[in-house]
Formats: sequence, C-alpha cells, structure tokens
Amino acid sequence: MGKYNLNGVLALLGGLPAVTADYSDMFKWPIVTREHCEAVLKVINTGNMSGWDITMEFEKAYAENFERKYALACNNGTAAIHCGFFGMGIGNGDEVICPSLTYWASILQVYSLRSVPVFADIDPQTLCIDPNDIENCITKRTKAIVVVHYAGMPADMDSIMPVAKKHNLKVFEDCSHAHAALYKGMQVGTFGDAAGFSLMSGKSFAIGEGGVLTTDNKEIYERAILFGMYERHGMIENEQLKKYIGIPAGGYKYRMHQASSAFGLVQLKYYKQQFAEIDEAMNYFCDKIDGISGLKSHRPAKNSNMTKGGWYFPLAFYDSGQFDGLSVGRFVEAMNAEGVKIRSGCNRPLHLHPAFNDMDIYAAGQPTRTADMPNDIDTKHLTRSLPVSESINDKVIQLPWFKHFRKDVVDQYVQAFEKVTEGYKQLLHDDKRRAENGGYSSAFRI
Ligand SMILES: *Cc1c(COP(=O)(O)O)cnc(C)c1O
Repeated sequence: MGKYNLNGVLALLGGLPAVTADYSDMFKWPIVTREHCEAVLKVINTGNMSGWDITMEFEKAYAENFERKYALACNNGTAAIHCGFFGMGIGNGDEVICPSLTYWASILQVYSLRSVPVFADIDPQTLCIDPNDIENCITKRTKAIVVVHYAGMPADMDSIMPVAKKHNLKVFEDCSHAHAALYKGMQVGTFGDAAGFSLMSGKSFAIGEGGVLTTDNKEIYERAILFGMYERHGMIENEQLKKYIGIPAGGYKYRMHQASSAFGLVQLKYYKQQFAEIDEAMNYFCDKIDGISGLKSHRPAKNSNMTKGGWYFPLAFYDSGQFDGLSVGRFVEAMNAEGVKIRSGCNRPLHLHPAFNDMDIYAAGQPTRTADMPNDIDTKHLTRSLPVSESINDKVIQLPWFKHFRKDVVDQYVQAFEKVTEGYKQLLHDDKRRAENGGYSSAFRI
C-alpha cells in the first residue's frame, strides 16, 4: 500500500478514508477525573449548590492563576462580561467598540445598559481587532474598546493600548478563547481595565456553565458585585455604592452554581499540564500544515513569546487560489469524508446581523442600536462595510483540536490534509461553491 489508502482516491469519491479509526478520545473535553466527580458530588450531597463559599475559593485561586487582584465568578461568560461592562461604567448613549468577528456575547450585553455597539474590522493575520481601524470608530461618545483574543490568538495590545490611552477609553479583554495565552510573555487579560472569560464546557478552561470577570480595579469589582451578586453586597466597601445594596442594580442575578466552582477548583490544578500537551500536539500538527502550500495555521510567530493558551477553536487559512479556486466548503466536505471532522469558516460577522441593524428589541419604535443615541447625529461609523470580516469565512477552516499528543494519530490527520490537498483536482468538477461558511455559534451552523 502507498502512502494513502487506495492510492489517493478521495474518500468523498469512494476511496478509503485517511483516518482509519475512531479517535474521539483525542478530542474529548473536558477531561474529567474521579477528583472532579468527587468535588461535584460533595457539593450536591451537602446541598451547597447555591452558596458561594466554594465559589469564593475558586475566585481567589483563579485570580492568582490569571494574575489579577479580583475575580468574580458568574453563571456564564455572558454574565461575567455584562458585569464587567457595568463595572466599567458603560451606560446611556455610550459607544463601545468591538471587532465584528466574534461571538455575540463579546458585546450584545451593552444594549441592556442602553449603549451602542460599534464594530471595527479585524486584522487578516491575527483575526483580532485591527488597531488601525479603531480610530475610524471613535466619536465623542466612545467609552470603551472590547478586545477579543480570537481563537486563542493574542491581539496586538502594543498597538491597541496607546489608542485607548490617547482617547481616554476603557479596555475590556474578552479572553473566552484564550485562557492563559501569552502576549509577549504576559497573560492576556492583564492589559485592559477588566477581562471576561467564558468557562463553558467547550472552552479551553471548561468547568460546565460558568464565567469569570477579572480586574485589578476595586471599583469595577464592587460595581460588578452590585450589578450581579446581590447576596454578596455585604462585601462592598465603597460608600457611594453601599447606599444601593440589597437589590441588584439592573435586576440580574448571576451567581455561579457551586458544582461549577468545585469543578473549577480541580481544573485549576490540571489546566497547565493539559495546555502544555495541547500546545505540543497543535504546534507539531501546525508545523506540518504549514508545509502544505495553500494552508497556513493561525498561530503566533515562533519565538515571539506568544502562545495560544489552550488552543480553543484552532483555525487555518485556506487559499483557494492554490487549489484552482476550489471552495473552502467543498474542501471541508472532502476532509470530513476522510474522517476529519472540521468545518469551514469561523464566526459570522456581527455587523451584518439584524440584531445590530434594524431589530427593535425593546419595542422603542426604532432600531435598538440607535434608540438611546441623541437625535440627528452622524451614524456613518455604524454602517461602514468591514471587508476583512465580511470575507474571512470563505478563507478559513477549523483544524482538529487535539487534547493529547499521540504522534501516530496526529500524523494520520496530517496525511488526510496532504491527501486532499494533493488530490484536490478530483473535486473541481463538482464544486457547488457552497456560500454558507461559519456561523453565529461554534456549535451550530446558524
Ligand atoms: C463563549 C464566549 C462568550 C460567552 O460565554 P458563555 O459562557 O457561553 O456565556 C463570550 N465571548 C466569546 C468570544 C465566547 O466565545
């Protein structure tokens, strides 16, 4: 037998798949040990689900690990980010800049604070906010910038922070894809005023449903407690805020289920070791992918002292020009048939979704986006086209996210990529150029 099963006839066209066995154990996540189970069982058996003693222990350990003074654990990442926005003082008529290429929970919460999302384009290499586009979004109402370290890639903080400083803007880092990723040797989430992390089951640091807000700023921290943790209002020391304690400002209750915090405490013991193995497997794999012309992994340059942390949602750039125009959708279809369960595209750009255009969520008789803005203002910056965000879904593929480093298995996946990229001509005659790549959630094609 040659290098490939059936001499390179693609599995999509009747050949044998390149990946010869079920390797789902390589992808199973999170990795649950007896220790995790016992920690969760203890919470349930003692009826301590709605307390916050274990949660506060988790917060303390999380803050230490992720190098911030304060951590506030919430029931999900969406809530942690919501608390963070309120904590930073985002309110009526404020504009908040965010990259269009992200999950909606990086920004959509601003609506409930009567604020306005303003989308910036992304950098085509990092897929994070393009620092050069931020100033195109700034008006006198701009209050903050949300930076998303997209798919584990650290955003260009050295270019972003000076713009924020120049215009006196707050910076919020959404680290939901990038737990423990390093930007020039420093952990992401330690640059801005505050940071939010999703810890839902699919993320790198997975504890079930959960999220964490981190900050060094006591006022942001206490305002976040005022907003989402009414039962912990007794912790607030700020005299201005103390007046309001007892009822959550805004009406949100975001307490973490203690089964999640107990699970998280165990996870804190293991994530570094798990991330190290993932990093080794993914870098080995990406070195091979980068040897294939037409494919290029999305990761920081070598020796840049930057890492992708746990490699959530690993991606590669797909250059259809190298494959006589073969569409990314058809390429991925062929990869799937070889036994590589990946998808084409990434997040669909938010600025094109009706929620950020004409949708009238609160029945105000006008689109929510502009409902709290002064009348007669220039809204050009809200309706710009963002060419990189608009075209990226046809140019990227997901890579398999290995949780273990087993060279023989990883090599089979490399061979599947080699087989399809070498045999791509077999696919050209029947390329329907499916236009629908990416989605608004990583789990569903919607
Ligand atoms: C997952 C995610 C969130 C929200 O987290 P949940 O825990 O699902 O509420 C926020 N931002 C980004 C970029 C995410 O991927």
